[in-house]
Amino acid sequence: MDRPIFEEDHELFRGTFKQFVEKEMVPYNEIWEENGIVDRDLFQKAGESGFLGIDLPEKFGGGGINDYRFNQIMGEEFDLAGVATAGSGIGLHNDICLPYFKEYCNEEQMERWMPGLTNGSLITAIAMSEPGTGSDLASISTTAVKDGESYVLNGAKTFISNGINSDLVIVAAKTQPEARHRGISLLIVERDMEGFERGRNLEKVGRHSQDTAELFFTDVRVPSENLLGEENQGFYYMMFNLPQERLNIAVSAVAGTQYAFNITLDYVKERHAFGQPVGSFQNSRFKMAEIATELEFAWAFIDKCSLALTQGELTAEEAAMAKWWTTEFQKRAIDECLQLHGGYGYMDEYPISRLWRDGRVQSIYGGTTEIMKEIVGRNLGL
Ligand SMILES: Cc1cc2nc3c(=O)[nH]c(=O)nc-3n(C[C@H](O)[C@H](O)[C@H](O)COP(=O)(O)OP(=O)(O)OC[C@H]3O[C@@H](n4cnc5c(N)ncnc54)[C@H](O)[C@@H]3O)c2cc1C
Repeated sequence: MDRPIFEEDHELFRGTFKQFVEKEMVPYNEIWEENGIVDRDLFQKAGESGFLGIDLPEKFGGGGINDYRFNQIMGEEFDLAGVATAGSGIGLHNDICLPYFKEYCNEEQMERWMPGLTNGSLITAIAMSEPGTGSDLASISTTAVKDGESYVLNGAKTFISNGINSDLVIVAAKTQPEARHRGISLLIVERDMEGFERGRNLEKVGRHSQDTAELFFTDVRVPSENLLGEENQGFYYMMFNLPQERLNIAVSAVAGTQYAFNITLDYVKERHAFGQPVGSFQNSRFKMAEIATELEFAWAFIDKCSLALTQGELTAEEAAMAKWWTTEFQKRAIDECLQLHGGYGYMDEYPISRLWRDGRVQSIYGGTTEIMKEIVGRNLGL
């Protein structure tokens, strides 16, 4: 497929990153799935190879390149190699957490954290969701009360990706509870702060190599120097950054569907029933033709959004459209691919079964399909 948004530099980068994934991830994927977490040294290896913080300043070890297409390539290659879940910790670090550090750190914070963020010794997470609220971010109940030169943080977060591995957690907390969304601030909580505890690594339907945890904060004293940006601006910072998070999920949804399509195409050519390849039945041909067609449309829209983000023009509505449509497509298409595998599709040893389990959550996290449609619908003046 012709993808004109990519230039020679991007293709060279894709080749190098593909090799990294093949060498440093594919051989360990099964172990990480069993352990329920990737090894920390994956981040260090990615840092040493220049794959963390591509868009952070060079003087702090970043790549100094403001071009989302490089991030997009990384996201795609995880999925196309079948290690999307293991790669999602790096994706979360690079594309969801680091933009907050890049946009809102002051000079002192940059010097303190960025070298670790780019060399892989500091792994990040973002904690917005709570046991009592996810979609309705303005209703979070975690509080941070100013006391002298620190904030006293109390509350609980749940479903936090990189929750076990993370060293720095961006925590959304109310600094002015009566102001609802206008009273939320972002604080950086560090691994060893007193009163900060992690719950268990949550057992999920799929995505086993991604650590997902509950986090608890009991009178954690977070120094004022760990406030990200300005007090009470946290909600606006999250709204500003969420389109990139959503596009990231959409990229993974399309690449994950492409991978499922590729392996299914091989399967239906090889598997025979009634004396012919199962792919030659009209129903199989039509299903595969439909997915192939929708993939073309999906890639075109993703690439359009990626270019818009690179140029600083991606709107919240476009990101919401990309997120809901591609993730619903992913669920539908992978379900059809599994069906074409027959009984083998339901067996753990066949990769399609893992893609089916792992893909289910894509329409939930990062903002549910329903919330995405709300964003799109409101923009229509409805
Ligand atoms: C594997 C995994 C990883 C995650 N990682 C993170 C993370 O790293 N950091 C983080 O902060 N969070 C994370 N989350 C949380 C995730 O973002 C939330 O689960 C999600 O935003 C939905 O919130 P909720 O679960 O509270 O559902 P709810 O908000 O309770 O929603 C329940 C249902 O109601 C619907 N609904 C809610 N409001 C409306 C409305 N206005 N109109 C129509 N329907 C509505 C929803 O669409 C959904 O179907 C993760 C979740 C999972 C499962």
